[in-house]
Amino acid sequence: MRACYRYWLTFYFHPHRNAFRAYVDWFFPTVSAWLQRDEEKAATWPARTFRRQRFFDPSEFGWIGSEKDKRVQLRRAIQSIQEKTRVMVVTGAGISAESGLPTFRGKEGYWRKWNPRRLATLEAFQRTPEIVWQFYYERRQQIRQSEPNAAHVAIVQLALNCAEFLLVTQNVDDLHDRAEYQGQRLSNGQIIHIHGKIFVSRCTNPNCDFKRNDRNAGDVEAELPRCPRCNWNLRPGVVWFDEDNDHNDEERIEKFLTKPCDVVLVIGTTATFDYIRRWVLTAAVKGAWFIEINPDKTRLSRFAHHVIHRRAARVLPQLVNEAVELGPGSFG
Ligand code: NAD
Repeated sequence: MRACYRYWLTFYFHPHRNAFRAYVDWFFPTVSAWLQRDEEKAATWPARTFRRQRFFDPSEFGWIGSEKDKRVQLRRAIQSIQEKTRVMVVTGAGISAESGLPTFRGKEGYWRKWNPRRLATLEAFQRTPEIVWQFYYERRQQIRQSEPNAAHVAIVQLALNCAEFLLVTQNVDDLHDRAEYQGQRLSNGQIIHIHGKIFVSRCTNPNCDFKRNDRNAGDVEAELPRCPRCNWNLRPGVVWFDEDNDHNDEERIEKFLTKPCDVVLVIGTTATFDYIRRWVLTAAVKGAWFIEINPDKTRLSRFAHHVIHRRAARVLPQLVNEAVELGPGSFG
């Protein structure tokens, strides 16, 4: 029994067996829960108990990342981008953090005394539309004053070097859309704002399809605006926490994933939404080399081939530059 469990552990936590991990999580959720509980408990045990009670020690197998290992892995990550052509990138609020836009986590993520996760709901809008609108109005102003950072630019550079490229962003800001590399931007076909766009204002009347882009409206929309057609309230064109994503957007992603990707790059997201994890893991299970960039550990980290615990604007340009500049085959 011990040997059997040890066998599962051995494979489950192997850094290069992410497909096996995804398989166990998907089809054997109970075993997956045991394995993870064991891993978490073991981390808090004193060393002697740890050795006596725990059946598995990654260092026995030489998996613990030495500096040399890490360099080799980074090289592999760069190589995987450099040689491959079908890439999916998934981003979250973290990629815009270095442009000065707060994420939803941590103290700086609070708006006045409100938790944005509570405000970003249809329910909150129905109860107190003015307050919710004010929250979005201030976020719009903040986004207008911010610029794409080096990570947004690196993604455009990466896209220009791929045969097929799809960016799935959870961000409602327009920094990905505004980012330019050598005068070029991402095309509409290359980017999906899965949680909508903050600058779109649309009518709340189910029988009215009025919609406009308020990107250049400035102070005009400080007060909750009314629909010029039917006089109902307008609302921001974002997907709130208690709403479903746009079905067409989801279909576009599923369609992209029907063919295997070479690389899936996940940047600056806690990956709390199950569909985000599902899309990433689908790409990984179908053979994509999975790279995550995030200063913190996330729910996806243990599946990644390579986790880079650094800020996106620092590391991504280096990663993409090296991959693109060296050209295919440079690593021999
Ligand atoms: P999140 O706030 O839950 O998590 C942000 C993640 O980014 C964390 O894991 C954090 O460790 C990481 N991070 C912080 N700084 C980073 C950096 N410099 N480089 C790389 N990673 C960094 O964000 P989420 O997972 O995107 O989910 C929250 C929801 O909030 C999403 O629906 C998103 O649409 C919305 N949101 C959007 C914006 C925006 O559009 N800019 C801002 C805040 C929240």
